[in-house]
Amino acid sequence: MAHSDEIKIKGISGSPGICIGKAYIVDREGVNLTKRYPVSEDLIPKEIDRFKQAVSKAKNDHAKVIESLDEDLSENLTILETHMVLFKDKMLYGKTIDTISNDHINAEWALRKVSRRVKAMFQQIDDKYLQARVNDIVQVSDKIMSYLVGAQDIKISDINKRVIIVAHDLSPADASQIQLERIKGFVTDRGGKDSHTSIVAKSLEIPAVLGLGRATISVKNDDILIVDGSNGTLIINPEEDTLFKYEERMARFEEYRAGLEREAHLPAVTTDGVTLNLMANIELVEEVVAAKDYGAKEIGLFRTEFLYLDLKRFPTEDELLCKYKELVELMTPETVTIRTLDINGDKVNPYLSTIEEANPSLGLRAVRFCLENEDIFITQLKAILRAAAFGKIKLLIPMISCVEEIIQVKQILQKAIFELEQEDKIFNKDIPLGVMIEVPSAVMIADKLADHVDFFSIGTNDLIQYSMAIDRRNRRVAHLYQALNPAVLKMIKMTYDVAKDRNIELVMCGEMAGDPINIPVLVGMGLSNFSMNSVSIPVVKRMIRAMDAKKAADNTKKIMSMGSVQEISDFIFSEYKDILPYGETED
Ligand code: PEP
Ligand code: MG
Repeated sequence: MAHSDEIKIKGISGSPGICIGKAYIVDREGVNLTKRYPVSEDLIPKEIDRFKQAVSKAKNDHAKVIESLDEDLSENLTILETHMVLFKDKMLYGKTIDTISNDHINAEWALRKVSRRVKAMFQQIDDKYLQARVNDIVQVSDKIMSYLVGAQDIKISDINKRVIIVAHDLSPADASQIQLERIKGFVTDRGGKDSHTSIVAKSLEIPAVLGLGRATISVKNDDILIVDGSNGTLIINPEEDTLFKYEERMARFEEYRAGLEREAHLPAVTTDGVTLNLMANIELVEEVVAAKDYGAKEIGLFRTEFLYLDLKRFPTEDELLCKYKELVELMTPETVTIRTLDINGDKVNPYLSTIEEANPSLGLRAVRFCLENEDIFITQLKAILRAAAFGKIKLLIPMISCVEEIIQVKQILQKAIFELEQEDKIFNKDIPLGVMIEVPSAVMIADKLADHVDFFSIGTNDLIQYSMAIDRRNRRVAHLYQALNPAVLKMIKMTYDVAKDRNIELVMCGEMAGDPINIPVLVGMGLSNFSMNSVSIPVVKRMIRAMDAKKAADNTKKIMSMGSVQEISDFIFSEYKDILPYGETED
C-alpha cells in the first residue's frame, strides 16, 4: 500500500461548512512569523542589537504591567515576575544571539528556532511544573517577537492569498478582520463552542474548526487542508479518495445551504399557527444586508464592542453616533437592540486594557467595566440616545449580576440625558431598557430586576458558561458546554416565568436559539422571540415551520422532569428525527 501522509484531527465545530485549500500559518495575534532571511557577517552586530532593543522594549512594557497590577492578583504577579527573568534567560536570550551569529540569520527566525527547541526540550521532560514553564517561554518569546516584527503592522487583513488560516488562537477582533474574498476558512489550537471567535466565523460564513490543540504543530505552510466546520474535523494532506469524498460533500453542503436560503423569507409559523419572531445578532453595521437576506425582522442584538476593538482606542461620541444612526436608518421602521460595551472577558484588546486579570471572564467585564469607567459609558449612552432620534432603539445592558448595578446604570443614563439637554442636542430618551440574563444570579433575582427594566434578553452563551463553570474558550471543557443541560433549561424556565408574571418582554439572544435541536423545548416553554447569528435563521425557520407548538409544550413538560442532558437530547432526537433539518453529520 502506498504511504499516506493523511492526518485527521478532531476539534470543535466553530462554524459550519467545508473548505479545501492550502495552509497559511500565522502565530499568536495573527502575526505571520515565518520570515527568514540571511544576514551578512558585517551586519550581524546590527541584527543582534535589533534583537537586544526588542528585548529591552518588551521588558520595559512588561515592567509597567507588573507595576499596574492590583494587589489581589498576586498569583499573576508570580507568573509575570517569572517572565521578567526569562527575558534575559540564557536559554532564550543568549541562545538567540548565538544563533544569529552562528547561522547568519535574522533575529525573528533565530528567536523562533530557539524558542521551538526550548519548547520541545521542556515538553519531553516528565515533570508537570517544568512542562508548565513552556507556556512562560512561549509568552515571553511572543512578546519579544511582536517588538521585532512590529506586530501592529502585520494584520490578518494583509494576507493576500486564498488560504486557510492556521493559528494558535485568533481573537474575535482578529477574526472580524478576515477578508472574505481571501480567506477560505480557519483552524485554531484554542477556542471552544460559542466563543466569540466562533460567533464571528459563523457570521462570516467561513468554515472553522477550533480547539484542535496541536494544529499549528501538525500543519506546515502550504499543506493541503480540508476543514469540515460542520463536524469539527481537520484533515491534513488528504489522500485522493478523501479529497474526492469531501469535494462531493462540499457541493452537497452548498446545495443544502442554498435551499435553506431560498426559504428565508417564509414566515416563522408552526404547523398549528403560532408565529415566532426571529431576529439577528450582528457585530458590524455591514452585516445588516445579510441579516435581512436571511429573513431577520429586527436586530435583536448589536454587539457594540467590535468598533472599539478594531479602532484600538475608545471612539468619540460622534463616531459612535455615526455608526448607530447608520444602523437604525438601515433598519427603520424595525427595531434595533443596542447592547452597551461588553469588553474584556474574551474580547480583550491590549490597547484598551493593560491590566492582566487571572480570570478575565470573571473579571471587570461588560457593565462592570462601564460602571468603573463612567466617562466611556456616558459617551456611548449619549450616542445611543442621539441615534434613537432617527429610528427605534432598545437599550440592553450586559452581565448584570445584581440590582445595584442596574440602579447605577439608570443613574448614569440620567446623567447622559442631562448632559445632552445642556448641550441642546437632539435625542430620544424614551427607549426601552433591558438587561441580559446571562449570569446565574440574575436568574435568581429576575423578579427584582423586573422592577427596574422593560425587557429581558437571555444570553445563553454566558449563562451556560457561568452556570456550568466552564470557560467558553477552553476546548478542554467544551464537552460541558451543554445548552440542554437540565440546570440550564431550569434557569431559562425560571426567567420565562418571571417575565410572563411581570408582563415584560422576553428575548433569547444566545446561540442556543440558533440550533434547531433546541427549538422545540424553547417554544414548548413559551418563548417566542429569538435572536441569533443571522446565518442560523433559515435553518431555525425550517424547524419551526415543520413543528407543532402544542406538541412541543407537551414534550417540554416531559423534558423538564429529565435528569441528564443525554436523556434530553436522545428524547428530542427521537421525537423530531424526521424534521430536524441537519445537513450531513456523517464522518
Ligand atoms: C450571550 O452571552 O449569550 C450573548 C448573546 O452575548 P455574548 O455572546 O456577546 O457574550
Ligand atoms: Mg454574553
